[in-house]
Amino acid sequence: MTAVSPSSTLVGPFSGRSDDFVTYATARNWIGGLWCDPKSNKSIHDVLNPRFGKAIAQVKHGGTDDVDSAANTAAKAALEWSRWPIRDRAHVLYRLRELMLKNIDELSWLVSHENGKVFAEAKAEVEKGIECVEFGCSLPNLAAGNHLEVSRGVACEVAYAPLGVVAGVTPFNFPIMVPLWMLPQALVGGNAFVLKPSERVPLSTMRLAELLKDAGLPAGVLNIVQGGKEVVEALCDHPLVKAIGFVGSTKVAKAVYGRASMHGKRALCLGGAKNHLIVVPDADLEMTAENVVASFTGCAGQRCMAASVLLAVGDVDHILKAVRDRAAKIQIGKDLGPVTSQAARDRITGFIDAAEKQGARIVLDGRKSSATSGGFWVGPTIVDGVTPDMPVAREEIFGPVLSVMRVPNLDKALEIENSNPYGNASSVYTSSGDIARRVMAHVEAGMCGVNIGVPVPREPFGFGGWNDSCFGAGNITGWDGYRFWTRQRKITSKWALQRDQNWMS
Ligand code: NAD
Repeated sequence: MTAVSPSSTLVGPFSGRSDDFVTYATARNWIGGLWCDPKSNKSIHDVLNPRFGKAIAQVKHGGTDDVDSAANTAAKAALEWSRWPIRDRAHVLYRLRELMLKNIDELSWLVSHENGKVFAEAKAEVEKGIECVEFGCSLPNLAAGNHLEVSRGVACEVAYAPLGVVAGVTPFNFPIMVPLWMLPQALVGGNAFVLKPSERVPLSTMRLAELLKDAGLPAGVLNIVQGGKEVVEALCDHPLVKAIGFVGSTKVAKAVYGRASMHGKRALCLGGAKNHLIVVPDADLEMTAENVVASFTGCAGQRCMAASVLLAVGDVDHILKAVRDRAAKIQIGKDLGPVTSQAARDRITGFIDAAEKQGARIVLDGRKSSATSGGFWVGPTIVDGVTPDMPVAREEIFGPVLSVMRVPNLDKALEIENSNPYGNASSVYTSSGDIARRVMAHVEAGMCGVNIGVPVPREPFGFGGWNDSCFGAGNITGWDGYRFWTRQRKITSKWALQRDQNWMS
């Protein structure tokens, strides 16, 4: 086993309890229950608070040798951890749940500061993370295998065995929830984990690691290697790592899926999105307006479930007006947080500029929005008269921008929606059961909503899209998650010679 470099004590609680700027500890690797510096990679990057555009902390990037150290530490820890009864493993999550609830404000402020989302959104994220932990707590009740006498005196049983060392790579937009899409099932399943959080938001998972330690998770069962591409590629290549869960953009999801699969690893890689909402004239005005605005502006549009294109079927001008009026009331900084970086801001406003040049109408313009704190702001933006060839119609923008496309009927709406390569989420707004059923039957998306703008399948239902939004089979959460992080052992046994012999006897 590779030795772990010198460590320091716990980083402890985050002190921020408001939007006021506060700094936090340097993010380093967590290996064997200790914070340690990278072995050889010396690169240090700022972790920005996007509200201010100022460094809240630094992150020291690890490298290939840190992945090797983490994987070896995890392999050793997995030997003992996998022997714990599943109920005892789940008890660690029970205690984590209590600790997360006790520290929910601290965790939410930390998420808010490193990611930029407003406190209420950050708290909702932590609450959803807790819901994922609760699913993990329920696994001892769900994960019983099957047992059947398949012929006289011969029984077959199926049990779920851990894979050993597994890894997760997560994006910037949900610093605590997305790691918790993976950890509960993987850990209760008896695996040891190596996590590579987004280098833009490495701080929340530091606290999560410490809370898991306090909850009784043995050292080495969860390890964190900070960094970027080099660390991810090393995880894909490392022989001890048996499975990789990835959440991020489509380009990287595809690359990680290809690289991990080439090494014979199990991989489930969730990618980007371009979510469409279909609005028909019979939709409820109030509910639709509120929902559409929440969907495209929530978390500054930086959600893989955010609405991006509104397909306006027929005359829905009264609904579009209500959407615009509601979105115009959003207060920058209070209701809507900043986007993640200056580069993200430039990319988003670039999409709006291009659409305007191509003849679309900017009916609500967030390009000039700013806050006194500095930082990276884009206000709610609605672009009308978008045509399918425009980049705002085709590409993932990942900002608070709604592109409106006018279509004459439902078939055309479905045709446009289904021609986009992604397949994460889709919603229809209608009061007709027939229209809802037609959309649900024909739309190319894994997570669909009827009068719901962010149709996240809540626990125990599995989260995962289709097409270019997901590479690999199944969902990352729910029961599929447990199946992903475990393998089935089939045991066929008999205990006495049977008189009526058959080929199995
Ligand atoms: P990203 O793809 O840039 O980064 C995701 C992770 O991959 C990070 O940990 C990053 O360090 C790593 N990474 C980046 N470039 C890499 C490379 N070339 N090789 C290997 N690893 C690399 O994504 P992001 O900007 O952090 O997150 C936003 C994206 O994530 C959006 O596209 C969004 O739709 C998607 N997302 C999808 C889901 C889902 O469930 N489908 C959920 C959340 C976010």
